[in-house]
Amino acid sequence: MSEVIAIIPAAGCGSRMKAAVPKQYIKFGRSTMLELTAGKLARVLGAENVYIGVSPEDAYAADLDLKSMHVLRTGGATRAQTVANTLRAAIEAGAAGKDDLVLVHDAARPLVEESDICRLIKAAKEHIARGTASGCVLAIAVADTVKRTDAQGFVSEDIDRTRLYRIATPQCFRAGELVRALAQHPDVTDESSAIRLSGGKTAVVECAPTNIKVTQPADADFVRQQFLKESRMQLRVGYGYDSHRLEAGRKFILGGVEIEHSLGLSGHSDADALLHAVTDALLGAANCGNIGILFPDNDPAFKGADSKVLLKKAWETVAQKGWQIANIDCVVIAQKPKLNPHVPAMAQTIAGILGIEPEAVSIKPKTNEKLGFEGKEEGISTRAVVLLTKMP
Ligand code: MG
Repeated sequence: MSEVIAIIPAAGCGSRMKAAVPKQYIKFGRSTMLELTAGKLARVLGAENVYIGVSPEDAYAADLDLKSMHVLRTGGATRAQTVANTLRAAIEAGAAGKDDLVLVHDAARPLVEESDICRLIKAAKEHIARGTASGCVLAIAVADTVKRTDAQGFVSEDIDRTRLYRIATPQCFRAGELVRALAQHPDVTDESSAIRLSGGKTAVVECAPTNIKVTQPADADFVRQQFLKESRMQLRVGYGYDSHRLEAGRKFILGGVEIEHSLGLSGHSDADALLHAVTDALLGAANCGNIGILFPDNDPAFKGADSKVLLKKAWETVAQKGWQIANIDCVVIAQKPKLNPHVPAMAQTIAGILGIEPEAVSIKPKTNEKLGFEGKEEGISTRAVVLLTKMP
């Protein structure tokens, strides 16, 4: 038994949409509206707690990707009947006790925000615990001037919009109370009407105004635009630079690879200028600070530090934010030693630390035509750019 279950009535035919399929089966990208809507509730409540009531003749639901959600052929002649039949079936299956909460949500509201669903449940629990209401509904305050017309379409009445709301879904009540109310009032257009007619109170919880009910073809276009916006991949670019002095008596470690050379790189850590530039590029792309902040060079903890460990730690910080690496491109400016033979090993090492393919790591060594500190072999410098991606 679960504390909160969801009922989605999805037995209508949505004739106003003028679509070839019932409107809950209109597709947005690869998913139907019902899959998108039910998916929102499943993410909040768990798929096994979502009950979908379809028409007994439904020919589409069986082909959908609804995970472990329950599809019941409990559709009735009206929305209220479908809700009542589906809820009774869920209760009979042991899914909910009379005091458990039920969310009833329109299949045609795929844009409901998960945060609004959570606020609704919280508010309903509080009202029920205090005895101040039987439950709650999501609603949108009316911003437009509202008027009623006569049968001929002429304005006949100004309606004060103070405290006027467009009632949306989900609506949240206790299972037992809702079943009783719907049995007594089978002709209502929403659950809160049945609750009110049975003497119960419903509190309003304001939700995002985008929680529209898809009714007209223009609504479907709006939903399509919203999902397109949400499904867009995010891209971020980061840039890193580093330089280290060349000195006798130090190891020459670059890209995590120890390279034979008469001089080595000096610094607080192992002075791997290539890994430092890559580390900074990653941190920069994700706006997570920089290598000097994460690993201060006056901190004894990082004296002689293995820069491979620092890069891995920095990458973990960035990856935690959901970023993935598309590619890394680096330049190393060093008059000596010859670095091209070591490029595959360096790319392999960097790719290994970051868990990406070596093919995604490019390293281009250059001399500096004997110009500047690199050309005079006083030091070397490095640059790296990284592209991060985040899927929605
Ligand atoms: Mg450095």
